[in-house]
Amino acid sequence: MWQVRFLPGALIKMYNLHCHSLLSDGELLPSEIAVRFAALGYKAIAITDHADYSNIESVVSAILNFTKRWPKSANIKVLAGIELTHLPPEQFKPLAKYAREKGIKVIIGHGETLVEPVINATNRAALEAGIDILAHPGLISDEDTKLAKKNGVFLEITSRKGHSDTNRHVVEKALKFGAKLILNLDSHSPEDIITPQELKKVALRAGLTAGAIDTIHKNTENFIRKKSS
Ligand SMILES: [Zn+2]
Ligand SMILES: [Zn+2]
Repeated sequence: MWQVRFLPGALIKMYNLHCHSLLSDGELLPSEIAVRFAALGYKAIAITDHADYSNIESVVSAILNFTKRWPKSANIKVLAGIELTHLPPEQFKPLAKYAREKGIKVIIGHGETLVEPVINATNRAALEAGIDILAHPGLISDEDTKLAKKNGVFLEITSRKGHSDTNRHVVEKALKFGAKLILNLDSHSPEDIITPQELKKVALRAGLTAGAIDTIHKNTENFIRKKSS
């Protein structure tokens, strides 16, 4: 059984369920993404390329071809994902349903970040569409935070520049209304692939306590276990 060699000093269990590859606007092949994350001690990733009606069939089939053949014995698990991005709100439901039926494990909705012109009411449409994670939800409202809790959707705390401006807001709302949080990188290039220790600092800067971070890890682990079976 082969293993990716760990870089020294990185043995913390960690996860990143938001990565972009050459299948959309990322710089690396899925294989190189997996190997680079494994080298930093990550235990599981999801490859979640941007999709709309123009490319969803090809992206879904390509990532499933990849993840089906990724060796079970590897020391990093790779889940097939997709990020529904900049859709007219009414398209979230049909595209989430399509991805799920094809066997995609992690469906992300590209939320209302303040650094891109995302259509208003995108957070709501994504939360109602059966997604797993609402990425960078910007200044998410109380109502939408409650909906995330009700529908069991993770709200994302991100290390990505710009999207991370509203991390504190997302933490406050999620803690207030009991919605689940997840820590993700939204990586596109080698420089974005930070260590688990650096990702933990992002979480602390967002106002999360060590205890709250532990809870996030437990919830994420449970989610990955459920999606891997
Ligand atoms: Zn992107
Ligand atoms: Zn993304």
